[in-house]
Amino acid sequence: MKLTFLGTGTSTGIPVLGCHCDVCRSTDPHDTRLRTSALVTTDTGGKILIDAGPDLRAQLLRHHNAPIDGVIITHSHYDHVGGVDDLRTLTYPNGSDIYCRHDVNDDLHRVLPYCFNDKYYPNIPKLRLHTIAELTPFELAGVTILPLPVMHGALPILGYRIGNLAYITDATVVPDESINAIKEIDTLVINALRIAPNPTHMNLEQSLATIERIKPRRAYLIHMSHQMGFEAEASRLLPPGVSFAHDGLTITID
Ligand SMILES: [Zn+2]
Ligand SMILES: [Zn+2]
Ligand SMILES: [Zn+2]
Repeated sequence: MKLTFLGTGTSTGIPVLGCHCDVCRSTDPHDTRLRTSALVTTDTGGKILIDAGPDLRAQLLRHHNAPIDGVIITHSHYDHVGGVDDLRTLTYPNGSDIYCRHDVNDDLHRVLPYCFNDKYYPNIPKLRLHTIAELTPFELAGVTILPLPVMHGALPILGYRIGNLAYITDATVVPDESINAIKEIDTLVINALRIAPNPTHMNLEQSLATIERIKPRRAYLIHMSHQMGFEAEASRLLPPGVSFAHDGLTITID
């Protein structure tokens, strides 16, 4: 199985519109980050998209301009669902299968009402929403996916386990039941916003403490803010086996 990081930035991306800080002006390509999203390629060639943010069109043009089997959504914030409409041409005429929590299902109906209108309207995206439940596995593209409950501030959202990969974004707290479901996993992808604390995302110290509880063989950090600093400098703060992901990085998971 392979995972390609389509985007590794927080909700603003980096550079941040209107910001002229050193990181936003960095010429190191690892300091440019689109909104967080990833593409999983299964051993049989299945394609599973994790989140469909507002940079989706540019990300897929760059990394996978071809159909996908389904989308698994972590939560309904704009930086994770702002690109759902762009799935339309990729999956025409069959439509897209989207897997999400019940509240995300409701939110997608609200933010994309024209996709769910009873009256026929030509060329709108055909979206099939599948409601999934915490710790209840389901099948997609020939693999089993386990939704992991995590907290994003006060908002319950989902991480996912796919084989030897665990993918968690936008978490503040990973509860014991999810830790137990991914303990000593091969590859953990987890969010780390910046050095300073934040009410709705783990900072670096909290991410490293969570990694220490899960004890994966290796961990990749995602959903970084420009306030994390230059990747080359912030990387010196990481213990062995932990690294910052960057846009376009592809890793293999056995
Ligand atoms: Zn986010
Ligand atoms: Zn900046
Ligand atoms: Zn969020």
